[in-house]
Amino acid sequence: MHSQLDLVQARTKSYIQGPHRFLIGGKAVDPSAAAEFHITDPSTGERLSEFASATEAETNAAISAARRTFDTGLWRNVSPAQRAQVLWRVANLIEENRQLLGELEALEGGKLIGAALNGEVWAAAEAFRYHAGWCTKIEGKTFKPSIPGLDLEGTTRLEPVGVAGLITPWNGSLVMSAWKLAPALAAGCSVVLKPSENTVLSALRLGELLGEAGVPEGVVNIVLGGGRTVGAHICEDARVDKVSFTGSTNTGRALIDAAKGNLKKLSLELGGKSPVLVFEDADIRAAIDGAAEGIFSNAGQVCVAGSRILVHTSKFDEVVAGISARADALAIGPTMDETSTLGPLISEQHRNSVSSYVDRARSEGIEVVTGGEAGDGDGYFYQPTVIIDHERTSCVWSNEIFGPVATVTPFETEAEALALANDTEYGLAASVWSENTSRVQRATRALRAGIVWVNCHGIPDMSMPIGGYKQSGWGREHGWNGVEAFLEHKSIMQRVMPDPRADG
Ligand code: ADP
Repeated sequence: MHSQLDLVQARTKSYIQGPHRFLIGGKAVDPSAAAEFHITDPSTGERLSEFASATEAETNAAISAARRTFDTGLWRNVSPAQRAQVLWRVANLIEENRQLLGELEALEGGKLIGAALNGEVWAAAEAFRYHAGWCTKIEGKTFKPSIPGLDLEGTTRLEPVGVAGLITPWNGSLVMSAWKLAPALAAGCSVVLKPSENTVLSALRLGELLGEAGVPEGVVNIVLGGGRTVGAHICEDARVDKVSFTGSTNTGRALIDAAKGNLKKLSLELGGKSPVLVFEDADIRAAIDGAAEGIFSNAGQVCVAGSRILVHTSKFDEVVAGISARADALAIGPTMDETSTLGPLISEQHRNSVSSYVDRARSEGIEVVTGGEAGDGDGYFYQPTVIIDHERTSCVWSNEIFGPVATVTPFETEAEALALANDTEYGLAASVWSENTSRVQRATRALRAGIVWVNCHGIPDMSMPIGGYKQSGWGREHGWNGVEAFLEHKSIMQRVMPDPRADG
């Protein structure tokens, strides 16, 4: 095992080694409990550092700080233009910290260093810039009520929802934190962020940068720890008005239960089993490239991964061969090696889960065209895998695997393709590959998914809302909808009295 710690800058190494403190009320707080979790490099299996979970008292303190700053108006009463300036400064600071943040994502989050530096860090900065623009555009409406005999004037005012709990997953820790923090802060909320126990470092650094940029102390609080302890506490606490969560569908269900005490508002961005529809009239080369990218990027650990590839029978063999060739050409390797094109899965436990799905499918008689085994070395690698599934009864057809495993299935007609695409309890994303514009329109209308890409797959943009139909979640992130998720609408009806000094 060759440590990747020797490949990062000294500053990153020292940041990884810790100590790892919570951010509560604007202060870096030393945990009172003993370390419970390890920070592990998934490329090598090396334990890099450790950290403690927040105790109940520490989680309470974080929620209290958020509550206090919200109730006193420390941030929500800052003028919109000033809030925008702070968010813009956060973006600049993220870019100034590009190397550190990128290396943290590569070592702790299993992101390829090139993608981390050029994709993740850029996207996190962009989230703050985009939301800086919204601060000054949060507007209500005016109405003329129609009650006979009364002179009334109606307006709506949009106000921050209150204290928001932000719970993020490990498959894009920096970006997911930014995607939640930026709209929450643009709206004027105070927050408690709990990153995944697998990836804590970039969120902690981001918390420090928010303070440097001018977010007042206590507006953003960060605690670390397990989902069922610290996460559940945040979801159950009646002082929290809203939770924005990204993670698995099962955890989403647990959150609904936890949130019911004070009926807190929930945004849930959950799992997917997204179809990629390749019609016979598609640019087949582009479709093969896009489908391969759609499932193998970030080793398939992407909620919108195109894990079910549906191909017209006339192009089926060509597409299977093309995607398999792309899979075989990927260079599996550690994330700090710039020649690696496929990194590891996040943990040994997760690799075992991916591997057991493929083994089960094999035992069900499914054909594995390429891959289907763990990768070499001490890291948690898994080979990019292509499976042919004619029957659609196997475990890989219906379950979200969250790994580099593509299921390819043939169809004869457009109607059959659309029915197969919708044959899932999920409804997060889909892509349609076709040069026929009417067919594209028919498909985008029929697909029950929160986002449909045409002749591309998996491209996010801050202006485009994203979220789930069916069991892929509640609400939308990004765009105006994402800001609105952190706002309440208040209607104000005023009776206008006649001027007592007027004649008659
Ligand atoms: P994954 O299985 O991909 O890690 P999870 O949905 O389990 O996805 O985790 C996503 C986030 O939700 C993590 O920050 C995790 O700690 C948190 N989490 C897990 N279980 C709960 C829970 N019962 N209540 C609140 N948060 C939870």
